Amino acid sequence: MRKNLLVVLIIIGAIAGGLCGWFWGPRMEPVAFLGELFLNALRMIVVPIVIFSMIVGVSSLGDIRRIGRVGGVTLAYYLATTALAVLLGLVLVNLIHPGAGVSLAGAKIPEGAVAKVGVTDLILSFVHPNIFAAMAETKILPLIIVALIFGGVLTTMGQRGRRIIELCETLNELMIKVVHLILWLAPVGVFALVATELGASGGGEAFLQELARVGRYSATVLVGLFIHGVVFLPLLLFLLGRQSPARYFWGMVEALVTAFSTASSSATLPVTLEAVKERNRVSRSAADFVLPIGATVNMDGTALYEAVAAMFIAQSYGIELSLTHQAIIFITATLASIGAAGIPQAGLVTMILVLEAVGLPLEGIGIILSVDWFLDRCRTTVNVWGDGVGAAVIARVCRLKS
Ligand code: ASP
Repeated sequence: MRKNLLVVLIIIGAIAGGLCGWFWGPRMEPVAFLGELFLNALRMIVVPIVIFSMIVGVSSLGDIRRIGRVGGVTLAYYLATTALAVLLGLVLVNLIHPGAGVSLAGAKIPEGAVAKVGVTDLILSFVHPNIFAAMAETKILPLIIVALIFGGVLTTMGQRGRRIIELCETLNELMIKVVHLILWLAPVGVFALVATELGASGGGEAFLQELARVGRYSATVLVGLFIHGVVFLPLLLFLLGRQSPARYFWGMVEALVTAFSTASSSATLPVTLEAVKERNRVSRSAADFVLPIGATVNMDGTALYEAVAAMFIAQSYGIELSLTHQAIIFITATLASIGAAGIPQAGLVTMILVLEAVGLPLEGIGIILSVDWFLDRCRTTVNVWGDGVGAAVIARVCRLKS
């Protein structure tokens, strides 16, 4: 009852934020600090939650063979759903042809988007030379690797290892209890985040104008995200996870609204863990193991968007891409989504990998930049939904109960 009240309040917060941002535009700026407060509270807890949930998740899987099997299934599942999303994006962009008639005159390379990310950078990002620096910089991927190793090794240390694992279990529970507290900030925080972001883009009318400028592109991304989120993922949840999609969705609403308002899978991770474990009652070991990995590597929405955006840029320049080029986009968009951190607009930066792979001009990013803040929120919501669905599917496929 209290839980449902909170979810309803969060939804009301999001809608009210949308309306206020729409009508009052930049005048909503004074409430920005409330959004920041909520975001900071979530960020504050991300690092400990990743470390403890991964250690607990890995150690609860038991022996190394089982960890290997569940890890393998998790990665294979994530890769398959990401590839499905990219494929869907490619089909839609070929059907809708959003770039036809769009002029790219005056497009500029946006600031901050010039950092090059190659495949080697992706591999290097797995290991950070300093654990504490990784924590301080919220670099999730290397922390996951550290926690994986610590959790795995602890299980081989007998009684003494067991004691540390129990301590981590208690700390993990503590984190979830803190998330419960933070969530009471969510209605106001979500309100402020949505209102100020929409407000900063100039309010409702200015936003609609921006959206219309690249209307067919935005529509292609949104239609793709909708089909993936409302048809493909629920089907997988039903067929492989054996869960009722509607009920599961309701259980994840607070995480999805948080994803939309923060545009960050990582910041949302504490809420996702809480929603999947507590509200949807998915096996704890599955959720603890699968979700932190999902928040950093599984980004279906981002992958779909990267493919659509790259093709849109090509079409706008009048560049015909052959099937081979599209296959390269397929592979690089998948990699770029894996490489994108779970933070706002990370996908925009890793898209350089896709554009460079097929020799497209980076200036093309300039034209999609104006609506990216909004599309980012939509794709982050699908990313988090994909992680939640993944936890249920993997729990069932790997028969994880506790
Ligand atoms: N903001 C996205 C996320 O955190 C990543 C992106 O597509 O930019 O999931």
